[in-house]
Amino acid sequence: MAENCQGNAGVRLKPAFFPNNLPVVFSADDFYAPVLGVLIKSICETRSFDMGYDLIILHGGLAPNRIAALLQVVQGYDNVSLRFVNVSMYVQEQNLYKANRSDLSKEAYYRLLIPDLFPRYEKMLYLDCDMIAVEDISAIFDVDMGDCCIAAVRDSYSFRSVLTEKDKIQKNAGSQEILQATLAHRYFNSGLVLFDLRRIRREIDFGLLWKTAMAKPWPYHDQDVLNHVFAGCVHFLHCRWNFCDVILLDKKSADFPQEIKDELSEAAASPGIVHYLFPCRKPWQNATKYSIAYFWPVAVRSSFYDELLGRQLKFAEEIIIVKTRKGADETLSQFTHEEDTKDNVNQLTAYEISLSQQRLILQSMLQNKELEYRLRGKTEEDARRRLALLGLTDGNVDKIRRVTPKRILSFEISICGHCNMKCRGCAHFAPLVKEDYADFPETDRAFTRLGQLFNGEAESIHLLGGEPLLHPQINDFMKSVRRHFPVGRIELVTNGLMLPNMEDSFWNTCRENKIQVSVTKYPVEFDYIAVQALAAYHGVVFGYYNNSDLTEVTFNRLPLDLSGAQDPDNSFLNCYLANTCITLKNGRLFPCSIAPNMAYFAERFGGLDASREDSIDIFHARDKEEILEFLSLPFPLCRYCDSVKRIPFEQWGTSKCEIEEWTL
Ligand code: SF4
Ligand code: SF4
Repeated sequence: MAENCQGNAGVRLKPAFFPNNLPVVFSADDFYAPVLGVLIKSICETRSFDMGYDLIILHGGLAPNRIAALLQVVQGYDNVSLRFVNVSMYVQEQNLYKANRSDLSKEAYYRLLIPDLFPRYEKMLYLDCDMIAVEDISAIFDVDMGDCCIAAVRDSYSFRSVLTEKDKIQKNAGSQEILQATLAHRYFNSGLVLFDLRRIRREIDFGLLWKTAMAKPWPYHDQDVLNHVFAGCVHFLHCRWNFCDVILLDKKSADFPQEIKDELSEAAASPGIVHYLFPCRKPWQNATKYSIAYFWPVAVRSSFYDELLGRQLKFAEEIIIVKTRKGADETLSQFTHEEDTKDNVNQLTAYEISLSQQRLILQSMLQNKELEYRLRGKTEEDARRRLALLGLTDGNVDKIRRVTPKRILSFEISICGHCNMKCRGCAHFAPLVKEDYADFPETDRAFTRLGQLFNGEAESIHLLGGEPLLHPQINDFMKSVRRHFPVGRIELVTNGLMLPNMEDSFWNTCRENKIQVSVTKYPVEFDYIAVQALAAYHGVVFGYYNNSDLTEVTFNRLPLDLSGAQDPDNSFLNCYLANTCITLKNGRLFPCSIAPNMAYFAERFGGLDASREDSIDIFHARDKEEILEFLSLPFPLCRYCDSVKRIPFEQWGTSKCEIEEWTL
């Protein structure tokens, strides 16, 4: 779901989901958009399946390509919506104080607009861009805020600074009130704020936050404004929900009350949200413990990885230049924070290690055990093969993904080879299939085996076809797959034509087993809105396949080269289906959805010699690692695909079952 609202459109926004809507607001400019993209990805990956995540970005004119890239992040997540609100018309910049922070942008103040912008919402969570969700954020909405207007996390860093540098702070802060709040450790960090908008609208005047911001130069900007206006009306959350990436429990924190020390220790061991608060500790600047553990493993799976990595490399270059010019000691004081002073454990060594990691990031994926997307070769030779396939300097993340074993399984299964439509060039060759039903007992056995191997957890499972609803035992398949995979998103992917005639038992099975019905829209006469309403009537989660409610008028066609003369490594590396559309068929897993269905083509037209090397037998595989390893490498059938000549926008049409529909 996407909307790019201008002007007062924020006011018009209605909750994206009903019920269980979780609205989260961010603000970003073009520079922070990639960082926000990573945060959004982390929210998507940790989300709960029962809630709707209503994400809204406030901006002052994001570039169209940034908006498109951010929308891409949420694609495929059925219960996540992302919308944009341009607030430039509300913002008079001239009185917003930024002079004491060169890196501060006007977007930092946008959070102050939230109570006035969204009259149709009751609660909203604001998050800074430079955060990572380690856990599902829905738990934050569950807190009992009592009579408080907002919930937030104590700013322990400011508290510690006040304890150790009272005089300096008092002089700089210029606000006795905020200093007092800090001393009483009631000063909160504004990176995460849960607003009770209903209460706020009752208790403070329209526009008050913004007017307060404009009234004087607040040293800590929006944060001071929020602390000033909501003083005494704040519910404090456990600091694991806004855990700052700085080691606070050192000798300077000796005077912290014991309960704060305990909370910080718990947060450090198990953060819910990590906040990369300080300028020189941003993940795209330095490889710190918390960025390696939490930020980069998500970033590497996002489309922003190359850009963020480039920033990190550039920053590394700059540090080296400064080091050479000024000498190590000066460099350290310039690029480290006060708690990272020279007398702390060998900071210089730490920086040198991080620099080498940054410079050789591809190689470090091999060595650095913290990075999830390291290229996990079982032997050095395997690893070299993968790197050779990639070309060390390529940096193409998609290629890295294809030859990197997955951590969690995603797979699809064709329940019915045939279909009630005949789309030209159908990627599953359905128009060529007269009748082919998956065998239920055999499939049940396969689900049982996979469920055991993967501890009942899958990232996503698609039941599709052909047309899966043609199978008379569709309900049995759905019950079985959920029984063996209690954790994971399961979708029934259909062209939808049969949905109006499905029995109640079908809808009940979908609902009870938390299976989403995902319809692919084709340019045919059919009332898609009516089936959407029908699903809603039965309480079944409904979506359009690939999160797109656009009618599918174009096809991606991957042409076959019947000569078998393609280089399998090259085809696999350039194939968007490879190690992505993993398919289960007859107790075997294939790395893509084309290979298992090529037999239909071969039956009709001949050619395409398949072998047992093209798939892995799940009953004979030693463990899940062997399976995931197999799926991440090219296989013989890839020699029939010219994936570089893929035709991305072929017009949709009816199949005449001619060989040219699938060949070069
Ligand atoms: S509806 Fe889907 S499965 Fe059926 S023919 Fe069209 S593309 Fe193939
Ligand atoms: S067989 Fe073809 S579609 Fe499948 S992974 Fe290889 S190149 Fe891609």
